[in-house]
Amino acid sequence: MDKVITINSNRLEKSIMVKNILRRKLEKEGYIVSNTIQPNTELIIAVGGDGCFLQTIHKFNFVDIPVLGINTGHLGFLAELSPNQIDLFIKSYKNGEYFIQSVSPIEAKINTAHRNVEVTAINEIVIKNVKSRTVHLYLQVDGIKIESFSGDGMLISTAIGSTAYNYSAGGSIVDPKLNVLQLTPIAPMNTNAYRSFTSSIILPKTSIITISPEYEFENTILIVIDGKEYKFKHIEDVKIFKSEKKINLLRLNGYEYWHRVAEKFL
Ligand code: NAP
Ligand code: MN
Repeated sequence: MDKVITINSNRLEKSIMVKNILRRKLEKEGYIVSNTIQPNTELIIAVGGDGCFLQTIHKFNFVDIPVLGINTGHLGFLAELSPNQIDLFIKSYKNGEYFIQSVSPIEAKINTAHRNVEVTAINEIVIKNVKSRTVHLYLQVDGIKIESFSGDGMLISTAIGSTAYNYSAGGSIVDPKLNVLQLTPIAPMNTNAYRSFTSSIILPKTSIITISPEYEFENTILIVIDGKEYKFKHIEDVKIFKSEKKINLLRLNGYEYWHRVAEKFL
């Protein structure tokens, strides 16, 4: 049976160039290269930055085929390779010199007065005001009331997303071997008028976080999934929890999470 590798890239000239080089080299090795998922796609390659990597997983509906990123973007934290490592990659891939880093995304069930929407995120889910005003949100964990939050918003991140927006918001970097949820407040208010936790809260993978807007204040809420914005009117509540889905990241032998963190951040 034909071996298919599916490639997705962003529209940058450099990404398209790298994609064409990659296609030619893979075809020379006997692979069929496709832009779409085929019944026998064995690997997905995203050519671009981290944004493209995230978009690729969303575009292919969180299919559990291994995915690998080639970074033509700025940071490329999630990507495994730079464009000059294509030959090394093909050799390692054919020799089986790689492993799979399996991580689980998070899901949100958004219940509004009119509809129920389910979304899945790789990095994080952010709940904010649509306007640049304070958002007031009730927070419950496993049915227990934790706080009445006031500030810019609440961010729930995965371990693999902990180095993204979560980190900028003062959250901790979490080793992806820990399958936890991190809830990080964005600019929390902590005064006599409003009391909110100012640090992140780390929760086990079994926890269900429930966030509901305080309707005295809010009508429309902004929900941001891996950087993509969605507006919702009349939200009753948002339930966030670990997904059953798996994202399988292909890593070449020698990959170490903390090497990657130090290399990209320090
Ligand atoms: P972007 O504005 O290009 O992303 C912001 C930066 O985050 C980029 O440098 C991106 O890398 C990097 N990034 C994405 N995922 C990462 C991860 N898991 N670990 C470390 N860095 C990561 O937008 P984008 O490329 O579409 O990415 C969407 C993500 O941007 C969102 O999921 C959110 O985490 C992040 N974001 C961050 C802030 C902030 O830090 N204040 C604000 C909004 C959104 P590349 O340069 O390779 O794209
Ligand atoms: Mn980007």
